Amino acid sequence: MSAEIPSQAEIVIVGGGAIGCSIAYHLTKLGHKDVVLLERGTLTCGTSWHAAGLVMQLRATHTMTELCRYSADLYEKLEAETGQATGFRRSGSLPVARTEARFTEIKRLASLGRYFDVPVDILSPSQVAEHYPLMDTKRIVGGLFIPGDGQTNPIDTTMALAKGARMRGARIVERCKVTGLEARRSWAALLRDVGTPAPGPTPRPMHVFPEPEAIARVPSWQWHRWGVQPAQSATIIRAMRVAGRLEQCAELAIPDARRRLGAVDGVGPWTVAEVSSRALGDADAVSVGDYHLAGHVVFAFTGSRDGDDQQMEELLEPFAGHRHRVQHR
Ligand SMILES: Cc1cc2nc3c(=O)[nH]c(=O)nc-3n(C[C@H](O)[C@H](O)[C@H](O)COP(=O)(O)OP(=O)(O)OC[C@H]3O[C@@H](n4cnc5c(N)ncnc54)[C@H](O)[C@@H]3O)c2cc1C
Repeated sequence: MSAEIPSQAEIVIVGGGAIGCSIAYHLTKLGHKDVVLLERGTLTCGTSWHAAGLVMQLRATHTMTELCRYSADLYEKLEAETGQATGFRRSGSLPVARTEARFTEIKRLASLGRYFDVPVDILSPSQVAEHYPLMDTKRIVGGLFIPGDGQTNPIDTTMALAKGARMRGARIVERCKVTGLEARRSWAALLRDVGTPAPGPTPRPMHVFPEPEAIARVPSWQWHRWGVQPAQSATIIRAMRVAGRLEQCAELAIPDARRRLGAVDGVGPWTVAEVSSRALGDADAVSVGDYHLAGHVVFAFTGSRDGDDQQMEELLEPFAGHRHRVQHR
C-alpha cells in the first residue's frame, strides 16, 4: 500500500528493506510521529528478499551480540503486536566441525558466547546426532548448539516492522525513487573515475571535468555502478557526442541556445533552464519540474505549502525578463 508523497516530513528514510523498515518501526516507537519511508520499488524488493533469515546471536562484539539478541526477542513478539506473522522460530543453530582446526574455532565462539551471556553447548559427534539424527558422526569432530538462535521469514518480518511503523503513524511510499542524493554521488564518482587529478597542491583530492569524448566512451556497466539509469546515461552520451555544437550555444541568442539545448533527445525544460541560466546568463529561464522550487516560490509569495509549477509560473509572470533571478531569490 502506498501513500501520496508528502511535501515535507521531519524524518525521511530512504529504502524499504529490513533496515529501513526497522528504523521506521523504532523511531515511531520512540514517539516520532512525522516519519516518511520512501522505497523505489516495493517493500523488501532489495537484498532483504534474498536473505535466508538466519537470526544468529553470536557476533564479534558485545554490542552486535546484544542487537542480535534483541532482534530475536523482537521477532518473537511482533506478530502479537502487529497481527502480521514473521515466521520466526527459535529452532537453535548447530555449527559443526569436520577438522580439529574448525573445532578450535567453534570452541572460541563458545567462549565468546559465555562471555556475552549467550547460552551455548559444546557437543561431541554423538551429541550432535541427538540434535540432527541424519548427521554422519564419523565425518565430524564436534559441534556447538546455540539454543537461542532461530530463523525468520525475512519478507514477513520486514512487512511486520513496516506495519508496526504504519500503526504508529509512519507513511510509507512505494515506487518512489530518491534521486537528489544519488545524482550528487554519481557526479562525484564520474569525476573521480574518469576525470584527471587537478594540477598543483590541493587540500584534498580534486578532479578536473573529463573531456566529452571520455564521457561518451564510458561503458554501460560503469554507469550502472555509479547508479545512473540507462535513460539518463543515454542522454548524457547523446549530449557528449554533440558537445561541440552545444558549446556554440554561448555565441547564440538565448532563445536559439535554448532551442538547441532542448533538441538533444532526453534533455527537458528543467535542464534547459538550469544550463541556460548558469552557463549562458539567461536571467529569464524558469526551472519547471524541479523537486523544490515551485514549493519554495509559491510559499514565499502566498504562504501556501502546496505550490505547483503552474502556480509558480503565474506568480512569476509579472517579472518576465528576470524570472530566473526572482525564482532563485
Ligand atoms: C543470499 C543472501 C542471504 C542472506 N542471508 C542472511 C541471513 O540468513 N541472516 C541475516 O541476518 N542476513 C542475511 N543476509 C543479509 C541481509 O539480507 C541484509 O543484511 C539485509 O537484507 C539488508 O537490508 P537493507 O534494508 O539494508 O537492504 P535492502 O533490503 O537491499 O533494502 C534497501 C532498499 O532500498 C531501496 N533503495 C535503494 N536506493 C533507493 C533510492 N534511491 N530511493 C528509494 N529506495 C531506494 C531498494 O529498492 C531496497 O528495497 C543475506 C543476504 C543475501 C544476499
